[in-house]
Amino acid sequence: MDCIFCNIIQGKIPAQFVYKDEHVVVFHDIHPKARVHVLIVPIKHLDSINAVTSADTNIVGKMFVVAPLIAGQLGVKESGYKLLVNVGEGAGQVVPHMHMHLLGDRKE
Ligand code: 5GP
Ligand code: ZN
Repeated sequence: MDCIFCNIIQGKIPAQFVYKDEHVVVFHDIHPKARVHVLIVPIKHLDSINAVTSADTNIVGKMFVVAPLIAGQLGVKESGYKLLVNVGEGAGQVVPHMHMHLLGDRKE
C-alpha cells in the first residue's frame, strides 16, 4: 500500500522531523494552519482511530505523552495548543494513516 505518511516515516519522502521514538514520529505539517502545526504520527500504519484496538494502547498513550513534550519544545505549552484528530473522510481526514494535529499560536 502506498501511504504518504509511511513513506515519510521510511524516509522516502522528506519531512521536517522534530521527534522520533519507537512508537511515534512528529514532523511539521506541510501546509501549517497555525504558527506551530505539527503532526504526531504512529509508526505503525493504522488507517484511523477506528482501526485502533487494545493492542495499540501503548501507541495511543505515547501520542498523548509526546504532545506536551513537543508543545514545550516549540514554545506553546504555556500559551496553549489544540490537539485534533480527524476520523474518516466525512470529518476531513485526508491522509488515511492515523495522526494527531498539534496546533499552537493560531493565525486567526
Ligand atoms: P487530515 O486532514 O488527514 O487530518 O490531515 C492531513 C495533514 O497532512 C494536512 O494538514 C496536510 O497539510 C498534511 N500533509 C499532507 N501531505 C503531507 C506531506 O507530504 N508532508 C507533510 N509534512 N504534511 C502533509
Ligand atoms: Zn501509513
